[in-house]
Amino acid sequence: MRLVFLGPPGAGKGTQAEILVQRYSIPQLSTGDMLRAAVAAKSPLGLKAKQIMDRGDLVSDSVVDAIVSQRLDEADCANGFILDGYPRTLAQAEALQAMLAEKGIALDAVLELQADRDALVARIVNRAAQSGTARADDNEEVLRNRLDVYNELTAPLAAYYRSKGLLRSVDGMARIDTVSKAVADVLGAVK
Ligand code: ADP
Repeated sequence: MRLVFLGPPGAGKGTQAEILVQRYSIPQLSTGDMLRAAVAAKSPLGLKAKQIMDRGDLVSDSVVDAIVSQRLDEADCANGFILDGYPRTLAQAEALQAMLAEKGIALDAVLELQADRDALVARIVNRAAQSGTARADDNEEVLRNRLDVYNELTAPLAAYYRSKGLLRSVDGMARIDTVSKAVADVLGAVK
């Protein structure tokens, strides 16, 4: 099962991806996690990415495309994967199509978790307060920028994947078990 997870920050992509990781025994590839690991390791890439991420802006397409392409070649992706946080721009979506074609594979579905903007701000501010391990980009002002960036650059991917017949949309604002049931239903029809 080769999946892309689409949805704004706080829509529950991480939570639902974890459930699918168990169900399908495939890895979750979160570009946010990969970039945060590079920041923590203070690698040249991490040093460059940190300021961009702290503002809630997007790291350049070429950097993220290269990270994902390398990661897809690792052995644990042989039976599938869940891309979480990638692609985030139309250019990344085109790059993904090209790299998958080159690797001789294709996406099975793109799962969109739909969510309401105001509810997302409340959810993420809460998550940051409760976890105690707040991310630098989880304060309200940066969060609003992340949501603006999502609406402007990433939301158009829904139409892109709909036109390819790959899009499956689910209401991400329901209870976790309700969402995961809806996800299972739409994916059951895929494979
Ligand atoms: P969110 O919870 O907001 O969806 P992520 O953990 O996916 O956040 O990503 C955090 C940050 O990492 C983004 O705001 C962005 O700066 C950077 N990032 C993650 N994925 C990408 C990507 N595909 N392209 C560009 N930047 C990315």
